[in-house]
Amino acid sequence: MTQGFDYDLVIIGAGVGGHGAALHAVGCGLKTAIIEAADMGGTCVNRGCVPSKALLAASGRVRELRNAHHLQTLGIQIQNVQFDRQAIANHANNLAAKIQGDLTNSLKRLGVDIIRGWGKVTGTQKVSVTTDSGEKTITAKDIILSPGSVPFVPPGVEVDGKTVFTSDQGVKLEWLPNWIAIIGSGYIGLEFSDVYSALGCEITMIEALDQLMPGFDRDIAKLAERVLITPRDIETYVGIYAKRVIPGSPVVIELANFKTKEDVAVLEVDACFVATGRIPATKNLGLESVSVELDRRNFIPVNDHMAVLSGGEVVPHLWAIGDATGKMMLAHAASAQGIVAVENICGRNKEVDYQSIPAAAFTHPEISYVGMTETQAQEKATAEGFEVAVAKSYFKGNSKALAEGEVDGITKVIYRKDTGELLGVHIFGLHASDIIHEASAAIANRESVHKLAHLVHAHPTLSEVLDEAYKRAVGV
Ligand code: FAD
Repeated sequence: MTQGFDYDLVIIGAGVGGHGAALHAVGCGLKTAIIEAADMGGTCVNRGCVPSKALLAASGRVRELRNAHHLQTLGIQIQNVQFDRQAIANHANNLAAKIQGDLTNSLKRLGVDIIRGWGKVTGTQKVSVTTDSGEKTITAKDIILSPGSVPFVPPGVEVDGKTVFTSDQGVKLEWLPNWIAIIGSGYIGLEFSDVYSALGCEITMIEALDQLMPGFDRDIAKLAERVLITPRDIETYVGIYAKRVIPGSPVVIELANFKTKEDVAVLEVDACFVATGRIPATKNLGLESVSVELDRRNFIPVNDHMAVLSGGEVVPHLWAIGDATGKMMLAHAASAQGIVAVENICGRNKEVDYQSIPAAAFTHPEISYVGMTETQAQEKATAEGFEVAVAKSYFKGNSKALAEGEVDGITKVIYRKDTGELLGVHIFGLHASDIIHEASAAIANRESVHKLAHLVHAHPTLSEVLDEAYKRAVGV
């Protein structure tokens, strides 16, 4: 414990970022406190990854068990599959509560002091905590900010939390509207369209940009649209935005062309799910007391060591991690950033390697990726003067996928033609979120497809889709 301070480390925000940092800090021998103003576990545990994956697990089973044709090909007949919406909602709520309890206990067990209240930086190595009973100041050698993010609601959209809502309310699955509009076709919009369509709701998906799933590699998005959208009860508006959304019964949505702003149509639906991204929760953190200005999108500026920057210079003893930094707004990225921040606090020089952090959408089937899209790789290639090559393999040629009767899927491997270095991997197909990790490790180690093509995969496994793509890349 550093002399003259209450703590070695104080963390503001007990989401997965703060939690990951706290666990690692204790492992490194730092006396640590964590400040949380609302729910322990933050977005991921209470309103994000955890409840949404519980809903996807339950609704995915309903979809599978109601797919008579698929079951028949496996020799199974099931009639009259029923589900109980409230019981599915309870599964999500109970799981969130359990993981919240586990996370809190893990901190207590390790001796991390949990301080409930609003944390604010009040000067170098100083934090104030405001609770119902007043304010106290604590000192720490280092401070990590991990305040997270909240849903972005575009201008013109009025959220009442009942008929027009964001994922904060959506994860509670309080009712199943006959017809629901989902604004946004990013991973949250896609995951909830998977849940609602499996449970029998009619969906209208509204995407302001020119393509559905704009964040995904084009080949993956194209096939995903063919499997996840077209055959389901989902109508789409692309290049169109929701200019006004008025809650009620019905919910009224005024649609306009995103480019020309001309009115296009008015929808009257039962509910509207707003999945238009997330914004940092960086207000009232006291950053002005240490002369830190947020960037133009209100993220906290940081370098790859996770040190907070002021005018491009490192602010000593102040670090920021997680969604509030806007680098990669994912749970495991937040926690990885937390570990890197603690490593640097302990004097070990570590940087976050965003290239090797995977991402996934837990639709049925799933989408996953790591590294660059083909477009990003082409941009880098043009700037640096090398050529990009691409190899693909298909789930319909994979024995395990055939055995499961789940053959919709593709793997795309993007690499440098000259050195074979793996630049990006994109998978759409059964268990894509589990298969991606060997590609993630390969990118972390900057491996080449020449080496990867000679690794041996167990047969028959879904991971052979990657093996096949690597082999196609090098022609073995
Ligand atoms: P948060 O989890 O937002 O935690 C920040 C915490 O800080 C909050 O508890 C907040 O109350 C507290 N806080 C803020 N300011 C203060 C203050 N001044 N004083 C005290 N406390 C404060 N990511 C994945 O990787 N996989 C997924 O499958 C996935 N699914 C998702 C599904 C949905 C519907 C949503 C919304 C998100 C999903 N995410 C997923 C994203 C993931 O939830 C976030 O990336 C992650 O929660 C970010 O963690 P964080 O620690 O940065 O912030």
